[in-house]
Amino acid sequence: MNQQTLTNVHISLVVPIYNEVESLPHLIEAIAQIMLPQNLNYEIICIDDGSTDGSTELLKKIAQSRHDLKAIILRRNYGQTAAMAAGFQHSQGQIIISLDADLQNDPADIPLLLAKIDEGYDLVSGWRKNRQDNTLTRLIPSKIANWLIGQVTEVKLHDYGCSLKAYRSEVLADLNLYGELHRFIPALAFIEGAKIAEIPINHHARRFGQSKYGLGRTFRVLMDLLTIWFMKKFLTRPMHVFGSAGLFLIVGGFVLGTYLSFLKLFLGQSIGDRPLLLLVVILILTGVQLFSFGLLGELLMRTYHESQGRPIYRVREFVTGNVKND
Ligand code: UDP
Ligand code: MG
Repeated sequence: MNQQTLTNVHISLVVPIYNEVESLPHLIEAIAQIMLPQNLNYEIICIDDGSTDGSTELLKKIAQSRHDLKAIILRRNYGQTAAMAAGFQHSQGQIIISLDADLQNDPADIPLLLAKIDEGYDLVSGWRKNRQDNTLTRLIPSKIANWLIGQVTEVKLHDYGCSLKAYRSEVLADLNLYGELHRFIPALAFIEGAKIAEIPINHHARRFGQSKYGLGRTFRVLMDLLTIWFMKKFLTRPMHVFGSAGLFLIVGGFVLGTYLSFLKLFLGQSIGDRPLLLLVVILILTGVQLFSFGLLGELLMRTYHESQGRPIYRVREFVTGNVKND
């Protein structure tokens, strides 16, 4: 795809919104100003994530007067990940771009992301090289989290938390997002074999409103990281892990048990007070349990994979206008 072919490609911009009433009009304008001159075929999908500051009403009003904006109003506040998932699910584009509503991401970077996708990448992630956030509560925890995520997921990015990203839609189609998993999309996509790039982008301090997160998010992200680690390692092969460990313990218990039986039956020794007997019992019991856990894991894993496609949110309504913009 070059600029020539990009004009035929449909681009969806996904924006989660939670109490961003002041930023909203500026944001839509800024996006349109970047997209319109390039003659690109685009739609903006704004997901109102249960706002209580009037963003919902404003968004509905704007959506009714624009042909390039589709508003999705969620029933309540589900969190950024679910809001983004709703946007992804309802976007039509072959290329999807996610960005924050608070004007911290700069729509002027969108062409850079598109150019990188054009080079053949499946996912291009923004890197907030000059991040404008609080040092103590945001920058330092994020540095540690980024390092840890890099170690665990083996996807080497500088900045996992940046919302400004571009994806080929087929990459997102395979992913199910829970918890705070939106920041692990590169890792999840990498597990699915996506080609990933990272480019430095602008980052501005928040002009309006407040950040929706504090230090607490770091811990939630760490918990999600554990989930990812587990999924990456065991998800598709629980029996290999639990089954072989179980079998190993059972065999150990069996060998030691045979030895004890030999002592008892052929040499007439008393084995009732030997700690080894206790070990045999523990080995066989835990071995059988681990083995059955592996079997159950296999069943659950099949259910997990075969029941995909269940949305994690409920949409209250869709709003889109038929009015021409120009
Ligand atoms: N957001 C959301 N639901 C939430 C929290 C946040 O849709 O429950 C949106 C928010 O409106 C913003 C984006 O997610 O567009 C990022 O949030 P924020 O700017 O507070 O995060 P930060 O940039 O401080 O990491
Ligand atoms: Mg922000």
